[in-house]
Amino acid sequence: MSELTVWVDGQFTTMNHAKASLMSHGLHYGTGVFEGIRCYETDKGPAIFRLQDHLDRFAAGTDALGMTVDVQSLGKAALELIRRNKQAAAYVRPLSFFELGGLGLDTAPLTPRSLVATIPWSNHLGNAAEVGLKMKTVSVRRTPADAVPPLKLCGNYVNSILAKREAYQEGFDEALFIDHDGYVVEATGENVFLVHDSKIVAVDHADALKGITRQTIIDLYDVEVRPVHLDELLSADEVFLTGTSAEVTWVSALDGVVYTHNPVTRCVAERYADVVHGRATDCHEWLTWT
Ligand code: PMP
Repeated sequence: MSELTVWVDGQFTTMNHAKASLMSHGLHYGTGVFEGIRCYETDKGPAIFRLQDHLDRFAAGTDALGMTVDVQSLGKAALELIRRNKQAAAYVRPLSFFELGGLGLDTAPLTPRSLVATIPWSNHLGNAAEVGLKMKTVSVRRTPADAVPPLKLCGNYVNSILAKREAYQEGFDEALFIDHDGYVVEATGENVFLVHDSKIVAVDHADALKGITRQTIIDLYDVEVRPVHLDELLSADEVFLTGTSAEVTWVSALDGVVYTHNPVTRCVAERYADVVHGRATDCHEWLTWT
């Protein structure tokens, strides 16, 4: 990994040589933006899935933090890195963060630095897609959208990490955020769907990240998009999570309720795999070949 080529502020270098200061504003306060993007192996070579959508969300993050970043150049760098690293598939991680200029909370004097890395990856939830995830509703609340916008802002991931710690400490695989009224928000790095009487419902909540995988499932299927209360999730036929890393992952249990069957989730997961690997020719507009 240390010998992988990465792109830093417009230059190609190796992971080993890429350096940042320990006094980075982003390290102290989490003032950074990142994306998680996948490049998949296809018959026609490696292709990045929904690159522009990820770049648009990244740009919303840099705008929120008042960072001036040429976001399109990060996309071009990602495509070039896949070629230079001779990767058939990769996880693409762009990051912009404030580095030097002081430790004050006024970010105006600070200049951002940017990195793009393309690293080997598999689903961060392990073999959960096959065996199912055991989830728990946690006591930690999701940061409300009117406190921190639901974007991929580095510091806000402490919220997900606290939730995940609570779930892990009690022997679960993943945490479910609900709001103070019992409505489902999302998981720590995934959006939530339910299936009832073969109908697919995408959880809608203002505090949740607008997931690109979630949008893909909404685009592919006749999906109801609406708020969902925890009670409804607990009485659903199937529950699944979506995310760039998680793809489509079946939830086998939530708070002691066991979901025994997952036929719809399996179909959705297979179709999603066909789409990202370029086997669904009607969805090629979502792929950018390197
Ligand atoms: N929610 C959160 C908090 C996330 O970090 C992610 C991963 N990016 C998602 C949902 C899923 O989003 P996407 O499908 O765009 O990866």
